[in-house]
Amino acid sequence: MASAKPNKQNPGLSTRAIHHGESFAANTGTVMPPIFPSVTYQHGNPEGFDYTRSGNPNFRILESVLSSIEDCNYATVFASGVSAITAVTSCLKAGELVLCEENLYGCTVRLFEQVFNRFGIKTAWVDFTDPSALARIKSHNPAMVWLESPTNPMLKVIDLKAVCGSASLHNIPVVVDNTFATPLLQSPLELGATISLTSTTKYINGHSDALGGSVCTNSSEWNSRMIFAQKSLGLQPSPFDCWLITRGIKTLPLRLEKQVNNAKDFADQLAKHKAVKWVRYPFRSDHPQQAIARKQMKGGGAIVTASIQGDKDQIYSFCKSLRYFTMAESLGGIESLVCHPATMTHASLDPSMRSRLGIDDGLVRFSIGCEDVVDLTADINNSLDQLQ
Ligand SMILES: *Cc1c(COP(=O)(O)O)cnc(C)c1O
Repeated sequence: MASAKPNKQNPGLSTRAIHHGESFAANTGTVMPPIFPSVTYQHGNPEGFDYTRSGNPNFRILESVLSSIEDCNYATVFASGVSAITAVTSCLKAGELVLCEENLYGCTVRLFEQVFNRFGIKTAWVDFTDPSALARIKSHNPAMVWLESPTNPMLKVIDLKAVCGSASLHNIPVVVDNTFATPLLQSPLELGATISLTSTTKYINGHSDALGGSVCTNSSEWNSRMIFAQKSLGLQPSPFDCWLITRGIKTLPLRLEKQVNNAKDFADQLAKHKAVKWVRYPFRSDHPQQAIARKQMKGGGAIVTASIQGDKDQIYSFCKSLRYFTMAESLGGIESLVCHPATMTHASLDPSMRSRLGIDDGLVRFSIGCEDVVDLTADINNSLDQLQ
């Protein structure tokens, strides 16, 4: 039986994804973990549970698998990716500043600018793919650096080791939102980050049927802060969602392998169509940070972004006309999705910021699923032909 504390040397990732977190109710012989819906626990029980807002067996099971696949000391689970971001940011004080990569997930930007700014937490936005940004980190006097890589939706790849190295010279904690890469393709903590944050809603769960977030760290201080934030701010997930995500993780290595292979083929096929201006995929030779991507990632991920010729209405009907890609927010599930960032995920951004990032009406983001890739490319080509 697997122990709650992962053995860091072995076994392999797929084995850990399947076998960790089985230690509750083991005396019943259950092969899969049960769901613990109880909100309250008898005082003084050996596992130390009291009230579900501050901990539950299903949280512990999920946290144990997450810390195992992330190869770290601590994981804390939250109700969503945004809850995890709230938990981390709530540790800052009024007057402190978060130095952010300028291309972050739209709801992260909204949370910083429209919520935390009101509490006096400041933000500054820089392009971390610009090498001169590293030397200037200190000049902003940040309390924290916040990155995503690859970024959403532009798929910029940031040299995590370089940024973490520069920030650590000044003891500035670095948070990496690792949602797009997952711990299977990229290990932010190994590259020097203080926190690896994930929306487990996406690849980790993989079935678009549960919301969740997690914070992984090797710092006991940050771990205590996350446990405190989980119960004090009411950011805890539901036991059922934790159970679903625990189930989802078991097939993460299988799903991701298929999705990454599909995405690679899909990107190459897409680039051949004459209605496509450019395609962005981290492992393609025309990606501006391809070398860094290959250095820090084990695969290019399963998101493909492209610029397509046509006005807003044409692009919109293109997205709607696809058969196997549902036009929807979110990503990372077994089913393929298409998203128009300018009017969907990044609609809340200031228009000037949107245009600086290149999020224009022609930009389309594809989340590649586990379907047969020939069907996906045929679907796209068919709709692109009609666009002409
Ligand atoms: C979806 C997403 C989030 C937010 O996660 P939720 O689970 O939807 O709250 C944060 N970061 C990135 C990169 C995301 O894609």
